[in-house]
Amino acid sequence: MVLKLINNIKPKHKHRVITLGYAVAVTSAFVLSLANNTNVVNASSSYQDKTDYLMLENAINENIEDTASIYPAERIVNIRSLYDMVDSYQREKDVHKQITVKKGDNFISILQSMGLGYEEAHNLYMDFKKVYNPANIRIGQKIEIKGIYDNKLKKLSNLESITIHENKIKSYTLAKNEKGEYEADAQVEELITEVNSASGSISGALSKSMNKQGVPNKIVQEFIKIFSYSVDFRRDVRKGDKFEIIFENNITKDGKVASYGDILYAGLQLRNEKISLYRYTDARGNSDYYTEKGQAMKKTLHKKPLAFQNARISSPFGKRRHPIKKRWIIHWGVDYAAPKGTKIFAGGDGVVQVAKYNGGYGNYIKIRHNSEYSTAYGHMWKFAKGIRPGVRVKQGQVIGYVGSTGLSTGPHLHYEVVRNGKRVNPTTIRAATGNNLAGRDLKKFKVMVSDIKSSYSKMFAMKKENKLAQK
Ligand SMILES: [Zn+2]
Repeated sequence: MVLKLINNIKPKHKHRVITLGYAVAVTSAFVLSLANNTNVVNASSSYQDKTDYLMLENAINENIEDTASIYPAERIVNIRSLYDMVDSYQREKDVHKQITVKKGDNFISILQSMGLGYEEAHNLYMDFKKVYNPANIRIGQKIEIKGIYDNKLKKLSNLESITIHENKIKSYTLAKNEKGEYEADAQVEELITEVNSASGSISGALSKSMNKQGVPNKIVQEFIKIFSYSVDFRRDVRKGDKFEIIFENNITKDGKVASYGDILYAGLQLRNEKISLYRYTDARGNSDYYTEKGQAMKKTLHKKPLAFQNARISSPFGKRRHPIKKRWIIHWGVDYAAPKGTKIFAGGDGVVQVAKYNGGYGNYIKIRHNSEYSTAYGHMWKFAKGIRPGVRVKQGQVIGYVGSTGLSTGPHLHYEVVRNGKRVNPTTIRAATGNNLAGRDLKKFKVMVSDIKSSYSKMFAMKKENKLAQK
């Protein structure tokens, strides 16, 4: 009866139960009081005779079978069973293990590593398969195992549940039901889309300024990417310039960010101009960023068509003293210093007109974008695979790699933009090469823009006021 009572007590009270075990053994009157008393803490604290306790503990430690020699007859209990009980409490403990799937792991091997036999593990696998095939677990995925671990046998003596986390919002659990059978179940957490806004002044690195206003890094990277067609962050953005952003977070019910959504609006207030870009999904289902007038930002020629967006201008457009020819001549493009092998992108959609070794230009590519614009790229180390005259390229597609071929003092990209046959400064162009919104899309877009403007101008204004109040 004593044993049964103790076993019924939930495992988290185990530590107390051990003390209780001794107390129960010592006095039978106590058993009665315990049976009526569900409050374990009170029951154990009502044990008072410390001497008895210590003697009993000694008896257990010394493995003395005959307690009659040290105990009055009415207190004799089966010390052997008490010993077993105490031993099992000491050797068993609750486990809640979080495992990250590593290379070479599979569901069965993970369970085997916790001491389960193959057959046992395989049965669990089959039970699990009813809602999720554990063969699909991937490296890096998280698995939680709850149960009771036997320190002596070094295995799980009782598996309570296994949870496989598919991602931040979806998980599958195999757990014991009332009948003691394992049952699998899927849990999907519903996400709520939350719209956030932030604004602030830029001082130092843009990412730091944005982080300070609560914009996560992933969103900052996206923000930079959106503007990379029109802004050279290294050159154009200065201390005191301002940013504005509206972006989405997908959050769980308890407020944790499960994933980041889209940037709905991105604004940059530079010294001389303000650039506002809005996300819009057109009738064909393509999402892109547009200026307030509905001009597609992406279709504007790249200012710095390099994978290394932090590349500095080593030589600007215009009049300069040539480093090799040692005389004043006009530099018809802009030079970006970048490590050899840096990917060079097509500045816009178009057709490759020239791809060859071209004297002082070294390995050279020229792309025609439309009747108005062409771009040219010099000193390339090599061309990308498949790049040859006549080939159609997409904006952002890799066309070659930075090198130092031709008349060059070090690895850099010489980039030219040609407008109506005249070479212009690539860093100041705002050349839209097509795909602007029109017709119904433009109408819908304009409605969306005014909606965003009216609801968020208030929000941004409010934030500014709060800041001033804090100062
Ligand atoms: Zn150059």
